[in-house]
Amino acid sequence: METNDLKYGMFANAPDLVDTIPALGKLKKACPQYIAQAETAQRIARKFAREEMLPRVLAIDTECNKNPRYVDWDLWQKANHLKLNIAAIPVKLGGLGWSALDNAVLVEELASVCLANAANITFNTFGLLGALVECKTDIVLKIIRMMTDAQEKGEPLFWAWAITEPGAGTDMEDGEAMALMKPSTNARKVPGGYRLNGTKCFITNGSLAHYVIATIPMDPSHPRESMATFFVPADTKGFSIGRIERKCGQKASQTAEIFFDDVFVPEENLWEPPGRGLRHTREILSITRGYIGLCGAAMARGALDHCIQFAHRKKIKNHRLLDEDWVKFAISDMMKDIMAVRAACYNFAISMDTYHVWSLFEKLPIKVSLKTLSKKLILGDFVMNLARNKLISLAGSRYKAGIVTDKLVEKFVTEGSALKVSGTDLAVRVSSRVLDIVGLEGMAYDLGIEKYFRDAKVTQIYEGSNQANRIDLFHNTIGMLS
Ligand SMILES: Cc1cc2nc3c(=O)[nH]c(=O)nc-3n(C[C@H](O)[C@H](O)[C@H](O)COP(=O)(O)OP(=O)(O)OC[C@H]3O[C@@H](n4cnc5c(N)ncnc54)[C@H](O)[C@@H]3O)c2cc1C
Repeated sequence: METNDLKYGMFANAPDLVDTIPALGKLKKACPQYIAQAETAQRIARKFAREEMLPRVLAIDTECNKNPRYVDWDLWQKANHLKLNIAAIPVKLGGLGWSALDNAVLVEELASVCLANAANITFNTFGLLGALVECKTDIVLKIIRMMTDAQEKGEPLFWAWAITEPGAGTDMEDGEAMALMKPSTNARKVPGGYRLNGTKCFITNGSLAHYVIATIPMDPSHPRESMATFFVPADTKGFSIGRIERKCGQKASQTAEIFFDDVFVPEENLWEPPGRGLRHTREILSITRGYIGLCGAAMARGALDHCIQFAHRKKIKNHRLLDEDWVKFAISDMMKDIMAVRAACYNFAISMDTYHVWSLFEKLPIKVSLKTLSKKLILGDFVMNLARNKLISLAGSRYKAGIVTDKLVEKFVTEGSALKVSGTDLAVRVSSRVLDIVGLEGMAYDLGIEKYFRDAKVTQIYEGSNQANRIDLFHNTIGMLS
């Protein structure tokens, strides 16, 4: 940060949450601890983003351009040391106990500096949420144990979520399209488990993952009716990695092809039975789409923050670029859109804490267990074996299904689609307009603004293309009426 920088956005001191989202001020009166923790999250996340990420994101981008396998492990270790990659795990079990709101703050601060590096750090939280979506007690406990053990040892532990196939991207997220698709993958029932075959592509962290959650049909001629979800350790025989994609942006986040060559998974690694795979995918999307919307708003904010600093430094004629009326209007125009989308995304995060899987941490049985039992006992073999009992596992899933109903999932998918499109389109629009204001210098790699444009473009395509999200939004609202 230069001494004459304007103290604004990522260059200002945190926390400014309550100042920038007034409704949180009201909430602070009702639930002081909830907002105080979000403010702590913002202080930690902004310091990390500004002091650790910002100085090196361009160097990382350059290295990844030369070698798509490159990872800045030093940065990752620093985040691991702060437990940013296991932030959602309760404090009692070794995490930070951060709510959906706190994690939104974390995602926003990191993504406003670099979305690809933010993804490397925060993606694991969504791995945990993937387990909570199922709420099979043994799987949830197993995942928490793996994540906290790895964090303590300073060892990386990555997840991948494998839905997309060479011939099916959008089709894997939509019931009607899924019914007609021609999947390349298939799962076959064998004694004691399943054999998986086929290819998945464009999988975030596919090349780094220790565990892959894969959506694969049992009967490729009836994919919708037979789609199941499997949990696959990446060291299983027959699992391998193919090409790592060279993308226009988000180069520090690896996207890879993965192969299943007669991979055996035991019965207990079936997460969702045949016919429930689409439901599982939709439930994950009901969480992640809102956060991708926030990532979009964050990138727009980051690009605008850089632009404001530039316009503050840049002299034209005998005044600052920032003093030009057309620049003031353009900045206000972008700010108003960012403020609106950002506030809507925080609304989504708070709803996530109130109604969705995150609310499980506040439910009495879980609260009481966390209060009365030790970490050693909860994550120990005794409870783990107990949780493996079919009845207990089923009770966990049923309990959760009563809280996060199918109807609620579709509501969140709809809300998430609206935010995903709004946030990611905004990121592309703002990062492009910012380049118009900065002019020639903005084209230079070293200023770091053109990277926002490249990174932003990618977000319009993943997590369901923005077109597919628009279709979802229509189907789940007006389409339901006609
Ligand atoms: C950086 C990156 C990371 C990714 N990470 C992951 C990951 O971790 N896991 C994963 O599973 N996938 C991942 N993906 C894949 C991503 O989710 C898909 O690219 C996305 O769903 C779009 O699918 P597609 O590319 O196959 O496009 P297609 O589905 O082939 O779509 C092509 C075009 O047709 C349109 N279209 C398709 N179907 C319909 C329809 N029914 N009605 C109207 N229009 C339609 C689309 O909007 C698009 O314009 C990633 C992609 C990228 C770029």
